[in-house]
Amino acid sequence: MKNEGKKETEQAKELDKIEIREEKGKEKLFEVDRRSVYKCVQCGTCRSVCPVFDVVGWESANTRGRMLIIKSLLEGTLPSEDVLPSLTSCTTCGICAAKCPAGANPPEIVEAARAQLVKCGITTEAQEKLKSAVMTYGNSLGETENRKHWLSKIERSQLPEKSDYVYFVGCFDSYRYPEFAKKTFKILQRYGVTLLPDEQCCASPLLRTGFREDAEKIMEHNLEQIIQVGAHTIITSCAGCYTTLKNNYPGEFRVISLPEFLAEHLDELKLKKLDLTVTYHDPCHLGRHNKIYDAPRKVIQAICTLKEMKNIKEDSRCCGGGGGVRMGYPDISLELARNRLKDIPEGVDYIVTSCPLCVRNLRDAGGDIEVIDIIELVAMAME
Ligand code: SF4
Ligand code: SF4
Repeated sequence: MKNEGKKETEQAKELDKIEIREEKGKEKLFEVDRRSVYKCVQCGTCRSVCPVFDVVGWESANTRGRMLIIKSLLEGTLPSEDVLPSLTSCTTCGICAAKCPAGANPPEIVEAARAQLVKCGITTEAQEKLKSAVMTYGNSLGETENRKHWLSKIERSQLPEKSDYVYFVGCFDSYRYPEFAKKTFKILQRYGVTLLPDEQCCASPLLRTGFREDAEKIMEHNLEQIIQVGAHTIITSCAGCYTTLKNNYPGEFRVISLPEFLAEHLDELKLKKLDLTVTYHDPCHLGRHNKIYDAPRKVIQAICTLKEMKNIKEDSRCCGGGGGVRMGYPDISLELARNRLKDIPEGVDYIVTSCPLCVRNLRDAGGDIEVIDIIELVAMAME
């Protein structure tokens, strides 16, 4: 133990020397937390779990390859567009971090590296398109319709201006799955939940793809709205919104995912038992990133039989929808979803998940079993 401590101190001193040498030289073009980067000892354990590498097979698209590229940028290689395919094809699924014996957190480092590339003006067309949609229209899908179009004018005018609880709908449920939003809000209204007067994208797509300054502006806007409403609790049914509101927003409020809220109120919901067998896909940003594994399973088991898929909880395989990959590399993204569908057990009626982006990607992969959001299963049990 004594020797390990000494080794770490020596390594830290060496790293400080590198930084000082660079400070004295020309301005740094690329900087991320190098202590995190140097945690990667290039052992290659992550090679066998990276879902993108599994599909594309490029060395530069496995976690170790991405870490090597970031290390070389830190050590003076000039940032250029050549690194984009490697650094923008990570879905930030986090399975590499969960398996890394050295405690490295590659998706966090990849996000920081993307932010540096954005600062240098090195981005893909897909990244720019995503940023422009969020900053122009307030949503990641470039939609121009009112975000609350799924409510009637009267319903909108009756929304409480103040409440302790806010339902943060998210871009996907607002525009792609308004039926999920309606069903969710119908249940939450019983508890006095309101909506933000002018909700905008949670900023997750901007943060994951490196547009940190733009993300801050949009987070500030949503934060002001939360303060205006006076809410102490935000409920959301999107895994991306959940992790962003919980881990990236400043401010003192509780963030709770829809499965957690439903699990906490199971007795009051009076759900019927249904003669169904379903399986459950853990969204990366709800499961691995935030360890919400039990709540959705508790809700499902209160309604019907749960038959687990292969690779669950910490080992869950990514649907391919996150990290800007769905937009930037649609073919890779769909291939990841198809691979995930291979984990489904025989004899299930539905694949249930709790993230609209996972619903979308898994549906687009075209399997035989219908993919539904947990709110749809709950709504069936309330009919
Ligand atoms: S990120 Fe972790 S698992 Fe992957 S090569 Fe580096 S040390 Fe090994
Ligand atoms: S976060 Fe997922 S996609 Fe990204 S490098 Fe790690 S395993 Fe691969």
